[in-house]
Amino acid sequence: MISGMGFIKPDLNEQPLILELRRTLGRLETALSAISDALVITDDQGMVLWCNRSFDRFIDQPRMLSLGRSILSLLPLDHQGDSLLPEALLTSHPQIPGSTTVLLQRQPLKACEIEWRPVETEQPAPVIFCFRDISTRISNQELQATAERIEQQRQHSDRLNQELQQQQLALANLVRECPVTGLPNRRGLRERLDLALGRLREQGGQIGVLFCDLDHFKDVNDMHGHQVGDELLIEISRRMQEDLPAEATVSRLGGDEFVVLTGPISEDSEAITIARMLQQRISAPWLMHGQGFTPSMSVGITVTNDPDVDAEELLRQADVAMYHAKRSPGESIALHDTSIEARFRSSLRVHQELRLAILNRNLSLAYQPIVCLRGSAAPGHDPDGDATNGVVRILGHEALVRLKPTQGLPIDSEQLIIEAERTGMVLELGSWVISEALRQLQHHPLRPDHWTLAINISPLQLEQEGFAADLLQRLETLAIDPQRLVIELTETRILKEISRGAQTLTTLRHHGVRIHLDDFGTGYASFSWLAKLPIDGIKIDREFIAALGCDSRLERMIASMIRLGLELGLEVVAEGIETNSQRLALLAMGCLRGQGHLFGRPGVLP
Ligand code: C2E
Ligand code: MG
Ligand code: MG
Repeated sequence: MISGMGFIKPDLNEQPLILELRRTLGRLETALSAISDALVITDDQGMVLWCNRSFDRFIDQPRMLSLGRSILSLLPLDHQGDSLLPEALLTSHPQIPGSTTVLLQRQPLKACEIEWRPVETEQPAPVIFCFRDISTRISNQELQATAERIEQQRQHSDRLNQELQQQQLALANLVRECPVTGLPNRRGLRERLDLALGRLREQGGQIGVLFCDLDHFKDVNDMHGHQVGDELLIEISRRMQEDLPAEATVSRLGGDEFVVLTGPISEDSEAITIARMLQQRISAPWLMHGQGFTPSMSVGITVTNDPDVDAEELLRQADVAMYHAKRSPGESIALHDTSIEARFRSSLRVHQELRLAILNRNLSLAYQPIVCLRGSAAPGHDPDGDATNGVVRILGHEALVRLKPTQGLPIDSEQLIIEAERTGMVLELGSWVISEALRQLQHHPLRPDHWTLAINISPLQLEQEGFAADLLQRLETLAIDPQRLVIELTETRILKEISRGAQTLTTLRHHGVRIHLDDFGTGYASFSWLAKLPIDGIKIDREFIAALGCDSRLERMIASMIRLGLELGLEVVAEGIETNSQRLALLAMGCLRGQGHLFGRPGVLP
């Protein structure tokens, strides 16, 4: 505890009152962290009651150190600005809203606009201040003029300035710690990393950086509140420090992210051993207010013997590896290497291309026929060469989204959809796909009665409120028969907890839209979805079809899937048929519908 300064250096035995204060700040921070203006509320004497994260950045110190202090002593001003500001801050609180411009920095010139107004919630009324960087908005001349005016006032505030600098120096030493856990924060970690790299330069050897990210921490916060979240973080930081090798240090970057810097290690495997030990340490069940929680975390590791590597680069590599571990089922630890880096860069590229494509509507749909397997041979490319020329009966088409990359290689649709779902962009993408598909349906009214257009829908879209009503309304407005539309739902992407989605499907189906379960057989719970979801058909995944004629076990599985589908009265479609012998084998098993390169690749709608 630092007495007399109105703020507290937290440790693990924090007072309940301080904890409560931090919890409140945590909630406020989440809500207001997106605002770029620095906001501060002071009491009528100018003492800080609350501030947002932008203010932390503005004065470069965490709010725990700002609370209870005079706002005047916190401002990173070259001096106190024009006379209005000190007056507003030093005299009794300003009842009249006002604004002023002050100089933040002289070289290069940097200015800031400050507005204040009383908050009429209580008496005496607190005051809210808003600090906005206006350096880029005002001309250099104006800045110079402000600088000169301010220079004259500077002489009067020299003494105050010196005090301020001393206090800021003292505070700078404290902002190396996380206020919740007492661990080094990002700044503290940077210093340790720089030291470790300095040692590498002198003595050689290698070090490891472990980026640890708690799983499901957001759920804890959402379900039990920030109070419990903070207590869990404190407990995790305690567990992580237990039995850690002497030279290793734990830091907290923020949120649920911790970084462990190993001491010197001789093998990558030592860093992996530390990661496993940490995972094991933190995984003991944790009881809070009678509720049990078993923490777990994903760890990304980078090991280096390069003394010239940048500390930020090491953190980035470990973060990329953590991201990989988090996304790979069954892997909770990943060691950064070139393949992980390549995958990360590729997903970054897909992300950027997707964002641009959605923004510029640089998207298109390719249509692949779904045909009747019976009675006709394939006119398409047939590597078996045993097809005779015949007429393929087209039952419908599937619309597959394509985007034109702005640079380089084409983008794999599978990867595109994964990225779109991960980022939520699939909602916008999916909405475009629906509009475009409906446009096609509207322009092709003279198709045979049985002809359908299938679109792929992400489970996230189904969870949107009003999805079914909106789609049905659009079908009605465009006078499209809902029976023309098939929705394909990819089995592996169905959310574990499908809630609103199931109701959406029931409503759509009730109005005649057909529902197909796509890539059937690839998920862990293929068969259980048949019972849980209202569906009309299954599309057996192309991986199974590729096994026809090569793997008798998979062949038997295909036969069972077809039999089960038919017994349940479902439409059974086989995907990825490339050869005539695959077509014949499927027909022999009773599957009558198929799709694949044998009949046509995705292209324009005939
Ligand atoms: P899907 O729905 O299972 O689509 C079939 C995929 O198999 C398509 O890949 C198609 O080009 C490919 N394919 C068709 N016949 C053959 C064949 O004979 N051999 C082989 N090797 N492949 C064949 P595509 O276009 O790359 O799409 C991949 C996946 O991306 C789709 O799988 C679907 O799950 C998803 N997807 C595509 N468009 C959309 C969309 O608009 N929305 C959503 N949510 N997902 C989409
Ligand atoms: Mg599909
Ligand atoms: Mg499929």
